[in-house]
Amino acid sequence: MKELKVQPIKNGTVIDHITPGNALKVLKILGITEKYADSVISIAMNVVGKRGVKDIVKVENREIDPKEVNKIALIAPNATINIIRNYEVVEKYKVSIPDEIVGIVKCANPNCISNGKEPIETKFIVKSRNPLRIKCYYCEREAEDIASQII
Ligand SMILES: [Zn+2]
Repeated sequence: MKELKVQPIKNGTVIDHITPGNALKVLKILGITEKYADSVISIAMNVVGKRGVKDIVKVENREIDPKEVNKIALIAPNATINIIRNYEVVEKYKVSIPDEIVGIVKCANPNCISNGKEPIETKFIVKSRNPLRIKCYYCEREAEDIASQII
């Protein structure tokens, strides 16, 4: 099968090798909704590439920041990020999951200190990477649906 060619973009970000089916979650992390209309977004889902099936997201005129990259790593651990300027890839890197995830995942335990009256920054410890399993540093509850707990 021929790889689907999405039109090249002049400036922006290409997120490649997204876990199949997770392209829309990546858009959500980037804050892109039906109301976000000031740039062109291309989405390809279940594309057959050299390393298997994947999703691809291209966002024009937008370079994503490190915090967004860390969130994407949680739902698409094999993703690569390409920053495009004037049709050239000027930066290319792979996402990675740190040993501690701070401030980007909410604990599901309502009694957790991180959900208290004076909330403190959430912190999760990575128990395993494949599959990704993380537990709360404070109450030790494991995150069951990481994608929905991303802040
Ligand atoms: Zn907790």
